[in-house]
Amino acid sequence: MTPSDSTSESIAPDSRLSVPPAAGSSRTVVKDYDFFKVVQDYLDRAARTTNLEGFVRTILSQPKNELIINFPVRMDNGEVRLFKGYRVQHNNLLGPFKGGMRFHPSVTLDDVKALAAMMTWKCALMRVPFGGGKGGIKFDPHGVSKTELQRITRRFTHSLGENIGPEYDIPAPDVGTNSQTMAWMMDTYSNMVGAGNKQSVKGVVTGKPVASGGTLGRAKATGQGAVFCIVEWAKEKGFDLEGSTMLVQGFGNVGSHLAVILSRLGVSTTAVGDHTGYMLNPEGFNAHKLQDWVEAHGSISGYPGGKPITREEFFKTKADIFAPCALENQIGEVEARSIDAKLVVEGANGPCNPAGEKILLDRGIDILPDVLANSGGVTVSYYEWVQNKRSESWTEEEVDAKLERAMTRAYKEVADYTRQNKVDRRIAAYALALQRIEAVYKEREIFP
Ligand code: NAD
Repeated sequence: MTPSDSTSESIAPDSRLSVPPAAGSSRTVVKDYDFFKVVQDYLDRAARTTNLEGFVRTILSQPKNELIINFPVRMDNGEVRLFKGYRVQHNNLLGPFKGGMRFHPSVTLDDVKALAAMMTWKCALMRVPFGGGKGGIKFDPHGVSKTELQRITRRFTHSLGENIGPEYDIPAPDVGTNSQTMAWMMDTYSNMVGAGNKQSVKGVVTGKPVASGGTLGRAKATGQGAVFCIVEWAKEKGFDLEGSTMLVQGFGNVGSHLAVILSRLGVSTTAVGDHTGYMLNPEGFNAHKLQDWVEAHGSISGYPGGKPITREEFFKTKADIFAPCALENQIGEVEARSIDAKLVVEGANGPCNPAGEKILLDRGIDILPDVLANSGGVTVSYYEWVQNKRSESWTEEEVDAKLERAMTRAYKEVADYTRQNKVDRRIAAYALALQRIEAVYKEREIFP
């Protein structure tokens, strides 16, 4: 394992945006945002709420392993380029490390640490027998050819070697990766374990294409899980989803499936945005068509069914539901004051920064926090892993029904904890996760 180098990769969050803020606009998403510190602060608050044993807090304050790999890849023009890849393994008390692989120019070690820790809480909250991990490569996947993308993926998987495995650490898709990436990773890994073991290592990654050992229902699982939470929220608040409106920031895997599934419940998406810009359609976008467009063109740019708007106008657009489904640190003070919605549902990990979150809550806007709202992805990844182990193929109805039970139960547990302990939903979700982890540490104690 390479030791942590938390300062070497810092990138100003603004450089994540390929769309510069409009002239004269102000954004308060924090510069030099310390995502890992934010997640640690939530951990501290939840630990105080639940009187967590000091030694458990100490263990959970840092990841178990942090791996940094610089690896060479020959590009199509013959040049050799060096890439920086990360894998952070936060905790494996409850099961193998589990978490996505992000391909994005802004990937840093500290962000991956934050995301890995959140996977630990997510799995514990959902009672999924996995721990937390996350990884990524710092580069723009849109800026390389498909053959280069395949070589980058395969070389990184090979470099990870035995640091991943179906019983040890199981990657999945995240920003900039998809089922194709997972197929290449699985194929590479299976070629490293010897002919006799090839079939038994399909579960080294989840989110695979169905024909290659993936599960039905995984592609839409994160959006579907968020929908099950929104439905529970609507029941709790007596809110009628039919005829309501939503804004979606990030129209990739999570955002597009959320919009498509909610459209079947009568929710129309009236504004969308991604790394190329923002668009409005007061009549509501056809979510299916927009999803197909993004699939074919790589972004919402050029879609004929909407009028271009600025980022500021997007955040000011009135709607019932606001769904950030892109990156962390997107809702700061200015954005939180602009948002005119009843509910913010965090499809992305960490989209609200703490200042933005406080303003939303003070304004009475409900937040369904990431560790709950987007945990459908890892939950169905677990179903995929179980099917791989048993050589089974479940129907989409079976997968959806299990996911609905899991999400509904978690939603209710978080709602109950919130009411009983007078904390917000995020701290409630963290606290429930911590209680489950603490119980196991107390039983097993510390080796030796
Ligand atoms: P994706 O790559 O499929 O989509 C990401 C979307 O965000 C794209 O539409 C992209 O254009 C947009 N985007 C990127 N940078 C942006 C910027 N600066 N401003 C506005 N939009 C921007 O990724 P995804 O899998 O949908 O993941 C989105 C979020 O959901 C991430 O925070 C990820 O960690 C989280 N998440 C994903 C899953 C999953 O199963 N894929 C599960 C849980 C959480």
